[in-house]
Amino acid sequence: MSHISVTVFCGSSVGAAPAYMQSARDLGAGLAARGIKLVFGGGNVGLMGAVAGAALGAGGHVTGIIPDFLRAREVEFPGLSELIVTDSMHTRKRRMFARADAFVVLPGGLGTLDELMEILTWKQLERHDKPIVLIDILGWAARVGELLDAIIACGFAKASARDLFEILPDVATVLTRLEAYAPSSVAAAAIDTL
Ligand code: AMP
Repeated sequence: MSHISVTVFCGSSVGAAPAYMQSARDLGAGLAARGIKLVFGGGNVGLMGAVAGAALGAGGHVTGIIPDFLRAREVEFPGLSELIVTDSMHTRKRRMFARADAFVVLPGGLGTLDELMEILTWKQLERHDKPIVLIDILGWAARVGELLDAIIACGFAKASARDLFEILPDVATVLTRLEAYAPSSVAAAAIDTL
């Protein structure tokens, strides 16, 4: 059994097709079945609530990290293994980063993109070397890849930016990837340099 922790970024909405919520449930249950700890944004809404609910339902360890001002709006998830309340969005993202051995990104909106772009830029600046895996549910991740390709084509990012993350086709492939991952002891960033 693995004891790594995975931070999941995903939508606080349910998305326009059932496949999004299904993948969120599959991911949560799959992490729990493998003894992989889940770190997420703490809300009981959208895909994020579905990942957490499925992980808890399957006996997993789930840590929610939520800023105080969002506790009501995102309907704080009840019965978490651990709840961390932060004073700001920035502190939340820092703590979600610090707790992660790896990041998994499911489809989401602006908040999800913000969280993804932040950990990508920190990796680009060599502040960490943690895996960042996007799950390509109904082409969401492929479109993020296309955006980055366009930015590279415009000359605003190096082609190597594509190597900062992986796009995997489905939840099962991501779970297999995580099972094989053993974080190195030096992978944790010098967080004070972020
Ligand atoms: P969304 O992808 O917009 O549904 O948001 C997903 C998660 O990102 C939620 O937990 C939000 O609290 C968070 N979020 C939303 N907006 C922002 C933002 N501007 N910066 C950082 N996180 C955000």
